[in-house]
Amino acid sequence: MKDHLPRKRFGQNFLNSPGVIRKIVAAIAPRPGDLMVEIGPGLAALTEPLLQALDRLHVVEIDRDLIARLKQQFPGDSLTIHEGDALEFDFATLGADLRVVGNLPYNISTPLLFHLATFADRVRDMHFMLQKEVVDRMAAAPGGGDYGRLSVMLQYRFHIERLFIVPPGAFTPAPKVDSAIVRLIPRPAMELNAIDAECFSRVVTTAFSQRRKMLRNTLRDLIAEPALAALGIAPTARAETIAVADYVRLANALAAGK
Ligand code: SAM
Repeated sequence: MKDHLPRKRFGQNFLNSPGVIRKIVAAIAPRPGDLMVEIGPGLAALTEPLLQALDRLHVVEIDRDLIARLKQQFPGDSLTIHEGDALEFDFATLGADLRVVGNLPYNISTPLLFHLATFADRVRDMHFMLQKEVVDRMAAAPGGGDYGRLSVMLQYRFHIERLFIVPPGAFTPAPKVDSAIVRLIPRPAMELNAIDAECFSRVVTTAFSQRRKMLRNTLRDLIAEPALAALGIAPTARAETIAVADYVRLANALAAGK
């Protein structure tokens, strides 16, 4: 792998399939003038074809050896390298109408998605490679086993679409599981509006702490049974069966009664 020893602690699985790389770049559809940031450029499997289509590109990379290579490979000023941890990177400094892409390090995917969700109001779209199992949970509809806190917290801010599956053989080293490409597009402002974000997060976390129990029990300390029913939510419903909009109504009722 171009004599770089992949580092497990940085979740390094490098794309090696030209066909898959082409398909991902086609899904992203980069255009000159786009404001784009790639998380974890690695050995530039996506960076290079993206830069061919863009005027400029920002990247956030944590591995110093890879940063040194990137500086050599792209000596011009079209690539801006931000050295450090994407979990702590302030994406707001890049500007608005931001396009975020990346074959993400799987070991930090959930905290990274939660971090990125806080910048939703300045994002145009996001395209990520993640473990297929994580993508299925992100995009899940109520009623199935995949629907959980991750689904509700992300779908509250984004429309989420699984695009295609990528098999382990497309990477070096090959991961043990399938991966998938996912597209996230921020919902228009006010489409789903929790007036108190902290309240919303608390309701969702509490409900899913015992996902198969009835909401009248799990939410007992937060809301009374008649109030649940008045919101149009059956007190006998379970966390995994109610919609994102139901969680927003619940959170807003709680926030109003604070
Ligand atoms: N984009 C390359 C590709 O598709 O072949 C590499 C993808 S690899 C799965 C993940 C990349 O994210 C690696 O380059 C790794 O060093 C980088 N990375 C890991 N943790 C990171 C973090 N916390 N912040 C920024 N980059 C990180």
